[in-house]
Amino acid sequence: MSDILRCPIDGSKFVDKWVCEKGHRFSESNGVIDLLTEDIKTEKLLDIVAPLYESVYAPIGFTLTAGKSYNWIMKKAGELISGTIVLDIGTGTGKIFDYTKCEICIGLDVSFKFLNILKKKRPNVLAVRGNALKLPVADESLDGLSAMFVLHMLPSPLVAIREINRVLKHGKKCVATVLTKNNAISNFLAKIWKLNIYPIDYYIKIFEEMNMEVEYEKIGAWTFFTCAKP
Ligand SMILES: [Zn+2]
Repeated sequence: MSDILRCPIDGSKFVDKWVCEKGHRFSESNGVIDLLTEDIKTEKLLDIVAPLYESVYAPIGFTLTAGKSYNWIMKKAGELISGTIVLDIGTGTGKIFDYTKCEICIGLDVSFKFLNILKKKRPNVLAVRGNALKLPVADESLDGLSAMFVLHMLPSPLVAIREINRVLKHGKKCVATVLTKNNAISNFLAKIWKLNIYPIDYYIKIFEEMNMEVEYEKIGAWTFFTCAKP
């Protein structure tokens, strides 16, 4: 695993748990590796609903805003990205790993609360606290990658997709479910969550500018992107 994870400060390898080649030290507690160097605010509401996120909040929220079930979208995404080494960005409780076959399964999030739940529910998943805009992962090291319900929450979807492209191996797939400017519901969600959301084309353009292959499916307020690095 230390072959894949990298120091978020300088990108060097870890020579020990968790000391990088240049001597930066990081901690691990309750099985959660903390590679976050900056203070990123976690969404208060999400932290409050964390214990009920996977069983109640996400299923009800997704059904109301997408007209499809949460398990359906997670299964669809999870199966597409199966591979030896898989990373899920904004993993939350790690639900996608119920559907993804992987030997090394890495869940990344900024929230300790969610990562602690992930570790309890799915102890085989490597839980990493880290920044989606500066993935603590080696170049071209992953066989599959997902970012479910997360890109629209980041200050820069462009930087996040650039990072996805950097860490994915050639010939491998990624999936992302994003809140896009689709309808009155997406605009309503953007308003209550205080988010700037973009139309589908905005994302298509970013993927294409990075020479990635991209397809999409509109699902209510959401868009399901499938991307591949040729
Ligand atoms: Zn370092």
